[in-house]
Amino acid sequence: MKKIIPVLFIYLIIVSLSSCVRKEKVEVDLLLLNATIVDVLNNQLVFDQFIAIEDNTIFSVGPMNKKPDYDFKESLDLQGKYTMPGLWDNHVHFRGGTDLIAENQDLLGLFPKFGVTTVRDAGGDVTPAVMGWNEKINNGELVGPYIFTSGPKLDGPKPAWAGSITIENEENIEKALDSLQSINVDYVKIYDGSLSKENFYSIIEATEKRGMKVTGHMPMSADFKKAVSLGMDGSEHMYYVMKACSPKADSLTELGLGYGMMETITDTYDEQTARELFTELAQKEVYITPTLYIGKVLSQLADEDHSSDSLLNRIGVGIQETYAGRIESAKKAKVSGSQMREKVSTLAKEMIRPMFDAEVPILAGSDCGPFNSFVYPGEALWGELFSLTEAGLSPAEALKTSMIYGPAFFGMEDEYGSLEKGKVADIIILKENPLKDIKNLRSLERVILKGQLN
Ligand SMILES: [Zn+2]
Repeated sequence: MKKIIPVLFIYLIIVSLSSCVRKEKVEVDLLLLNATIVDVLNNQLVFDQFIAIEDNTIFSVGPMNKKPDYDFKESLDLQGKYTMPGLWDNHVHFRGGTDLIAENQDLLGLFPKFGVTTVRDAGGDVTPAVMGWNEKINNGELVGPYIFTSGPKLDGPKPAWAGSITIENEENIEKALDSLQSINVDYVKIYDGSLSKENFYSIIEATEKRGMKVTGHMPMSADFKKAVSLGMDGSEHMYYVMKACSPKADSLTELGLGYGMMETITDTYDEQTARELFTELAQKEVYITPTLYIGKVLSQLADEDHSSDSLLNRIGVGIQETYAGRIESAKKAKVSGSQMREKVSTLAKEMIRPMFDAEVPILAGSDCGPFNSFVYPGEALWGELFSLTEAGLSPAEALKTSMIYGPAFFGMEDEYGSLEKGKVADIIILKENPLKDIKNLRSLERVILKGQLN
């Protein structure tokens, strides 16, 4: 008996120790094997990797020969394939009023078909619907990209777009920002339909005080550098940056020409002025969204036949009707002999390389949505990335403007932008290497949206 007790004791110690060593196998939802990871930030490929995904998050990543022995619900062998974070379209619209909500919603699935897993909605008139979609997208009831939204735009007494909030004085601004904060928008979008330059500046100051991000159009009567000094976080399209690159800007502003000054602005573009401005934009982290692709589409609208566009039949009848306005104004511009769009388009392209070299954070945004004729969800972001490489960026640099600077605008680099432990599992799988040729995006095979294989 005396001997049995110590033996039993030792046996129990051994049993409990071994159960400690033989840990429970970890089970993950999805296990990707033999992946070649596209490291966009460093312009390199990382071979033979595993990616374990649990729920909507990347649980772990590493070389295949160090892969823990996971249990998994589903696995995918990615031998010979290229994986990278999902694309961001940093300028889209959902709009057209209650009647077009369903048609807008029908297009959400198009984004992931082109690898776009996140979009930045730059303002519209169907905000409650957008918020509702996001909830459904988040819990997997609806297939679409996650939507960061500005909610309704802020504009002057005669807003250019339906659903905008009218700003005529400081009191309006505080009320508008209260209401935007109450619905938890991700940032503020300014429009210049009829907004005064004083109210434009005041909006920027007020958002700065509240710690809200602000970007948008700028009244052509305003001064771009002043807006930057007040804390403007971004600028949409190239008109306003361009204006600040012309030594003629002040005298043209005094003439009250509005966009009528753009042709002269492009004619008087000064590289030295531009360089100094770009350095400042980089220092102050002002995000510029060039929207080159829509610029090209709109500048060719009067001549181009879009009737056989492959995605046109995916666009609802109601949204197709909204295309008429831009077609009409393109025809008028052609008759009047205006070269404005072509000139702005050409110069915008030339400004990309120097802006990028100065480290200005450039955002890839397509401006797709109702009213923006023939600029289709998903495909248009590819168009923007192709345009950025045509403007001189390498494929890795162009991709950076999508899924690296996109999250950076919102200060969310820790959640997005690479395939690393703890990041959101928005992943795309391609057959060909996108760093070699950006058009290899066309070899897109699968999309993982928040951990869900599509
Ligand atoms: Zn827009």
